[in-house]
Amino acid sequence: MRRIWQASMIGLARSSAMKSFMQNSRATSFLRNKYVAGETVTAGAERAVALLEKNGIRSSLFFMGEYVDDPALIAETVQQKHDAAEAIAQRQLDIHISVDPTQIGYVISPQQTQGHALKLAKEIKRLAEESQGIHCLMFDMEDASLNDPTIALHNTLQDQGLPVALTLQAYMRRTMEDMEKQVQRGSRVRLVKGAFAAGPKLAFQGTNEIKHNSRQLIELMFSKTAKSKGFYPIIATHDTNLHDFAILVARKNGWSKGEYEFEMLLGVREDIARNLALQGERVRLYVPFGRDWWPHAVRRIGENPRNAVLLTRSLFS
Ligand SMILES: Cc1cc2nc3c(=O)[nH]c(=O)nc-3n(C[C@H](O)[C@H](O)[C@H](O)COP(=O)(O)OP(=O)(O)OC[C@H]3O[C@@H](n4cnc5c(N)ncnc54)[C@H](O)[C@@H]3O)c2cc1C
Repeated sequence: MRRIWQASMIGLARSSAMKSFMQNSRATSFLRNKYVAGETVTAGAERAVALLEKNGIRSSLFFMGEYVDDPALIAETVQQKHDAAEAIAQRQLDIHISVDPTQIGYVISPQQTQGHALKLAKEIKRLAEESQGIHCLMFDMEDASLNDPTIALHNTLQDQGLPVALTLQAYMRRTMEDMEKQVQRGSRVRLVKGAFAAGPKLAFQGTNEIKHNSRQLIELMFSKTAKSKGFYPIIATHDTNLHDFAILVARKNGWSKGEYEFEMLLGVREDIARNLALQGERVRLYVPFGRDWWPHAVRRIGENPRNAVLLTRSLFS
């Protein structure tokens, strides 16, 4: 039931007619305000500062947009990511910028994507030279067709000594193998359950199967081998059972607070994020900004059937 609801919302996220209607409707502004920091780089950066000052929570900035095939929009997106890196560096925060390959050119040309990603990662390295913190270009993971290209892009930049990180999804059957390789590389990996849909050959379908795979992946991410390789685990979920499990495995295998982190989404159960930060855990929120907010917001609605009320309110008010 939950996966059917999620799949319907994924469909809505890809509908350009729906996107245009929702993003131009005044009635939906409460949805935008719930999940998005604001339209500009400054709004995103200010929210990041406020989170750190009030709650000790770090941020990953994300200029929204996905599956972009308009060259002008791709250029604007790349510029916004550069601006976000600078704005964050000026405020002496982590230069932690999230990026979807399909928003920086992958739909048009993989070479172009690599060029943009390379420049961004070099810029982050330059800006971060004299500053402490967890600085990186974090690759988000999109649908199953993007798994191989995204991993290849991450590995190419990592091999050049650039500060990059990778997202892997527990719903994909291949992820255990992908994670093992990243452990050997001593990477920074963000584990998520997965906000996309794929058939049973490629992906686990049930919530319990996905949770079971998440726990197995956490065991690997916090293994003694991972620690000895310099691997950095990032557990990105609002699922408190998985938080508890990760902390348990971490302690059992000798990981201290600050050698890994938890990451959550702006506007989703921020109480949990605050509680973890109060316990001394390193916590980060994914802070989206920009005008193209509908696909991001409707995926969040899809993650919890109880959010149907939010969607109904925005459609009929
Ligand atoms: C930092 C971050 C980055 C991400 N990046 C990617 C990515 O690159 N690729 C990708 O495919 N997916 C990504 N995701 C999304 C992820 O795959 C899940 O779809 C999402 O996090 C929901 O699963 P969960 O494990 O958090 O919570 P669930 O198991 O769905 O739920 C756990 C608890 O949190 C509550 N909850 C969860 N989501 C919501 C919500 N939207 N509103 C209200 N309550 C909620 C549930 O009700 C429940 O109590 C990312 C998630 C995070 C946190």
